[in-house]
Amino acid sequence: MAATKKSPIRWGMVGGGRGSQIGYIHRSAALRDDTFELVAGAFDIDPERGRAFGVDLGLDEARSYPDYRTMFAEETKRGDGIEAVSIATPNNTHFAICKAALEHGLHVVCEKPLCFTVAEAEELKALAQARGLIVGLTYGYAGHQMIEQARAMVKNGDLGEIRIVNLQFAHGFHSAAVEEQNPSTRWRVDPKFAGPSYVLGDVGTHPLYISEVILPHLKIKRLMCVRQSFVRSRAPLEDNAVTLMEYDNGAIANIWSSAVNAGSMHGQKVRIVGSKASIEWWDERPNQLSYEIQGEPVRILERGMDYLYPEARIDDRIGGGHPEGLFEAWANLYRRFGLAINGNRGLAPEGIEELVFPGIDAGLEGVRWVENCVRSADAGGVWVDYQ
Ligand code: NAD
Repeated sequence: MAATKKSPIRWGMVGGGRGSQIGYIHRSAALRDDTFELVAGAFDIDPERGRAFGVDLGLDEARSYPDYRTMFAEETKRGDGIEAVSIATPNNTHFAICKAALEHGLHVVCEKPLCFTVAEAEELKALAQARGLIVGLTYGYAGHQMIEQARAMVKNGDLGEIRIVNLQFAHGFHSAAVEEQNPSTRWRVDPKFAGPSYVLGDVGTHPLYISEVILPHLKIKRLMCVRQSFVRSRAPLEDNAVTLMEYDNGAIANIWSSAVNAGSMHGQKVRIVGSKASIEWWDERPNQLSYEIQGEPVRILERGMDYLYPEARIDDRIGGGHPEGLFEAWANLYRRFGLAINGNRGLAPEGIEELVFPGIDAGLEGVRWVENCVRSADAGGVWVDYQ
């Protein structure tokens, strides 16, 4: 692994409090390579629970804040205040918190979706650009090393001309109305908190972003989408959706987004079909990439091996054969966020311009895709030009 160590970036968190689904992996990933140092937080919608949690994490009690506004105001008064903040709260709060962070001069790592509308995303992008600040999005699966291998294989022409992109993120955990018991699912099926979609934004945008990493040359020309609420109480939000897409070079794609794929654990798969060969990656076997040349036996490429392209070996921590997982993938992304922020602090190592990470444009594109899918679905599943 390339060395990244400079002075750690002073870092805070909004949300991700005790019992939240995603807070722990943010801390684990950010702290893994000493790129970030957790010095402040407003971890919880309940101020007292948030304060106690921060203290348990080892923070100075005075820097475990009751809410994000107080944290940003107080931290910017300090000489050693936070330089970056991660936002791990329900979707409806992302825009306001991200905007406030940028206005306080903070770099941001924001949970997806970045916000609810393209107009909001463009406002955040303009603000980040004007202030020279980094915004990273946690499309964490994209940090798996075999995604870099897939990107390099496409770039080097191993697949030939790309024809078909077959994507899915279809798990079965919400096949029944689990939200009646589970608060973490309850807000996801309520448009006030989740925004204009459930599974399109919650799961579909993950393989969408992976496809953007592997196939940066493909641009969506038009799409059609249908969405359903198989658990009826979730309407108008969907728990299943199918999207067809055409790219401007004639290639086609489909994305199946679902939380009701009964029996499926995660079901995130990316298959890219070219004129010479295909590749397939599955997030439940993230250390392997299937490479299938027409007329030859299937090859399973393994993470950490010398035969991979150099780009796929940059983040190797332990060598081939040892399974790495989602926590390492997230740590790889946080390391890249750190490199980008360090670049901004004038501490960039060589090669910073080569860095591939989900930034503000990935956030914007995720919001744009959901907006187009919803527009198509709500018009009856018609083709719409991609806007
Ligand atoms: P959750 O309901 O489990 O936890 C939310 C946390 O945020 C809680 O600790 C809550 O107290 C806190 N919170 C809520 N409002 C707050 C506020 N105004 N200020 C401070 N804290 C506040 O939710 P979750 O499942 O952890 O999801 C959080 C976000 O992470 C969502 O946007 C979700 O889409 C995203 N997420 C992303 C991934 C991924 O793979 N990148 C996976 C799961 C969740």
